[in-house]
Amino acid sequence: MKIIMLGAPGAGKGTQAKMIADKYGIPHISTGDIFRANIKNGTELGKKAKTFMDQGLLVPDELTCDLVVDRISREDAKDGFILDGFPRTIPQAECLTDALKERGESMDYAVNVDVPDENIITRMAGRRACLNCGATYHIVNIPTKVEGICDRCGEKVVLRADDEPETVKKRLDVYHDQTQPLIEYYSNQGILKTVDGTQPMTDVFDAIVALLEA
Ligand code: ADP
Ligand code: AMP
Repeated sequence: MKIIMLGAPGAGKGTQAKMIADKYGIPHISTGDIFRANIKNGTELGKKAKTFMDQGLLVPDELTCDLVVDRISREDAKDGFILDGFPRTIPQAECLTDALKERGESMDYAVNVDVPDENIITRMAGRRACLNCGATYHIVNIPTKVEGICDRCGEKVVLRADDEPETVKKRLDVYHDQTQPLIEYYSNQGILKTVDGTQPMTDVFDAIVALLEA
């Protein structure tokens, strides 16, 4: 099963993608996580990506597409994968479509997690992320068992630099301008499914599973 998670920053793509990846035994591929791991390790890619991420801008397509095409070509992705945060632009979507076409394949589902802008700012302000293992929490909605400590790996959880309200506003503008057109792109491909992302986390998950298994 090859799935794309679409939606605004903070819509819950990562939260759902991890659960779906676990349920179906497919890799969860988050470009945001890949960039953050590169920043943590001080790589050249990380240094370049950071300048864009800190401003709430997208990392250029030429730094992003090859990375994903390479990742989905690995052995563990041969029976499917779930993409979280990619594609984010029409050129990225075209790059993905073309790469799969060369293999005689195509994506199966693009799941749009729909959350209005007014909910996003609260979600992001309360998001806490573990920069060690990539787990995400929310201080009110999905809290860690011990305050400030990741349930999964025991490291500290932090407010991401790009989750400051001013940067979130910029990221939402970028989303509407550059990423939202993908909804029409995948609708035209006949693979778009939309879920109401304002529901509690487990209800969103059940709705997605129902769509995938319909
Ligand atoms: P995205 O990957 O789309 O940027 P996340 O999955 O990181 O979004 O979710 C953004 C924030 O909202 C996180 O703090 C997360 O814990 C919280 N969250 C995710 N799903 C829900 C939900 N259904 N209801 C309330 N809060 C949620
Ligand atoms: P995310 O973790 O998905 O919220 O991504 C965090 C940031 O990483 C984004 O705001 C972008 O700056 C960058 N990023 C992640 N994925 C992409 C992508 N597919 N294209 C461009 N930039 C991306």
